[in-house]
Amino acid sequence: MIYLDYSATTPVSYEVLDTLNKVTKDFVGNANSIHSLGVKSSELLENATKQIADIFGIFPNEIVYTSGATEANNMALIGVALANHKKGKHIITSKLEHPSIYAICDYLKSIGFEISYVNNDEEGLIDFDDLKKLIRKDTILVSICAVNSELGIRQPLKMIRQIVKKENMATIIHSDMTQAIGKVAVNFRDVDLASMSGHKIFGPKGIGFLYKSSMVKLTPLIYGSGKSNDLKPGTPPLPLIASLSKACRLANVDLEKRERFINLLNEKIVASISKHSDILINKTKYSIPQILNISLMKVMPESFIHAMEKHEIYFSTNTACSSGDLSSSVMAIYNDKTRAKHTIRISLSYTSTTDEINKFLKIFDEEYTKLRGLINNKTKVEM
Ligand code: PMP
Repeated sequence: MIYLDYSATTPVSYEVLDTLNKVTKDFVGNANSIHSLGVKSSELLENATKQIADIFGIFPNEIVYTSGATEANNMALIGVALANHKKGKHIITSKLEHPSIYAICDYLKSIGFEISYVNNDEEGLIDFDDLKKLIRKDTILVSICAVNSELGIRQPLKMIRQIVKKENMATIIHSDMTQAIGKVAVNFRDVDLASMSGHKIFGPKGIGFLYKSSMVKLTPLIYGSGKSNDLKPGTPPLPLIASLSKACRLANVDLEKRERFINLLNEKIVASISKHSDILINKTKYSIPQILNISLMKVMPESFIHAMEKHEIYFSTNTACSSGDLSSSVMAIYNDKTRAKHTIRISLSYTSTTDEINKFLKIFDEEYTKLRGLINNKTKVEM
């Protein structure tokens, strides 16, 4: 198998699986229980959380565990909206967000909030002048992803923070960092809230966290019992949390070295694929090398994905979460419907190998040429 869909999800690494196994087996107590089994679990919970906090330079009480980034995004956006609706109802987001952010914004709009979508330039960079103009006295939240999930466009969060806070100190900044963590260096202190997900960094599915600066107040979305956290009551899923902690530790090693290697693979793919004149490379100077988006202008991406799947080679149409739709990110940058309808996303990891990429490129050429031939013949017959 050649797996090139790491931005959709990653396999669980052996080390993480080992932690998951051991903690499931050896820590049976509920971390909220006061007896010794509970205390043992609660101590592990504390250590795992401290490790995550240390890795990202934040405090343990600024971590709220969630089932993943979708839940963290909900907790952040709806939590801010409900906690601040008396101060204002205006929210700003970008045109390069994950579909979960748009779904939450649509919900908030339906209950009376006003959503503005900041423009970006042709390279995908947030238009700072537009952002400045959009911020008002009643702007309670700005949510901008650190790395876009379709084209891998990375935003300068520090700069965005400076602009936002200069215009309105009270505006809270959230960033969906799901595609950034484990790929590029992030600084949680550039924002007030940040979402992440374990299954993008070789951790298990079903666990992630929301970073919540202690300065920010959120209205909880879930009510229940348990001493662990006001925003996420209930029994903490300790095996998942310990595994997430392990995954975070392994993800944040040699980031730059890994990125350099992935960049070589990315450039190799681009050089090879560029020889097909009807394939467009959707890459800007802000795209990170782990995510490579292309448009097969004359071939339906679904047909190509299924042709490649026969060789056990896997990648996505735009994102796993919005398959079948127009790619909103390609529209936001190239404003071309055919280009946005025909995208595929090849996503790489530091575990990808040169050998895999060579094989992928060989089969890519064979299958693409076959599909193009079929289309050419069909067009001739129809004429
Ligand atoms: N945000 C981004 C940027 C993502 O890439 C994803 C996963 N595709 C999500 C949110 C949703 O994450 P999860 O599957 O953990 O809910």
